[in-house]
Amino acid sequence: MSVQENVVIRTSRRGNVIAVSREHYLRDDLSCGSDLCRMCKHPALGLASGRLGASQEIYVIPDVSAILDQTDVILSDIKPFKEVLFLETVVNEVRLTSAKVYARVKEALTTMGSSSNYAIFSNEHHRSTFVKRSDQTNTHAYREECILSAATWLAQHWKPIGRQPMLVTDKDLTGKVLKNVEIFSVENLVRKYEGIEPKLRDFVQTRDENSDVDMRDAKRPRLYSDYMPLADAQRKLKNGKLLQGIYNTNPFNRLEGTVNVQKGAGSEGERFSVLIQGRENMNRSVQGDVVIV
Ligand SMILES: [Zn+2]
Repeated sequence: MSVQENVVIRTSRRGNVIAVSREHYLRDDLSCGSDLCRMCKHPALGLASGRLGASQEIYVIPDVSAILDQTDVILSDIKPFKEVLFLETVVNEVRLTSAKVYARVKEALTTMGSSSNYAIFSNEHHRSTFVKRSDQTNTHAYREECILSAATWLAQHWKPIGRQPMLVTDKDLTGKVLKNVEIFSVENLVRKYEGIEPKLRDFVQTRDENSDVDMRDAKRPRLYSDYMPLADAQRKLKNGKLLQGIYNTNPFNRLEGTVNVQKGAGSEGERFSVLIQGRENMNRSVQGDVVIV
């Protein structure tokens, strides 16, 4: 197991900025999600791990846009969506964007008895697929890098068992080309299969309906806000616009905490506590995190 330090800068909608430093453990004992694979260990992870099987040669890997805009197709239980692998990167973003869609993905991953197989792959914690984020990469570009890295590795990894990953997107990955991995839009994939699976078309969200979905999503406030570029935060720390301290959770109220900071250098500096209230402003900090306020 190796450790990567991840410093994540977050801003809340009220403008508070929090940098969270966490150790990120990379492992090589995480299952790729396929039950056919003999190279990965299959620890008893419970129902949520799911297991991909042999019902088709293609293992569909949807990106965020495909899941959010075309949930019904992805979970249609119709070929080629009988074997679906959800990447950790994608599921995390879906969780932050739509509680409703996340609940459906979670249900698919945990329900037994479906004739389709759903699995999750912890790509951000797997040594072979982890992507180190550079200061300049924005969240969207980083997410894409993670997805492409995972798909490229899985294509190699699944060769011995005769399975191929197929990345499916609604708009995010269009224009990308990957060696050994096919990237299909939901529409093109449905077109390819509707001859043998005519019912598939019924599950496709049309553009008109889509624009409603987009509007709903745009209006829906995200629970937590995006990251702030590390360089920005470092500059603001330097010129004193932001201060760094350790986050302490209030033991009597987990939605409240304080950060002890010092303004000014050395013994002349003024020490004080900054009160952080509410889930949104805490922005996922936990006891002991180094944060910037
Ligand atoms: Zn494997």
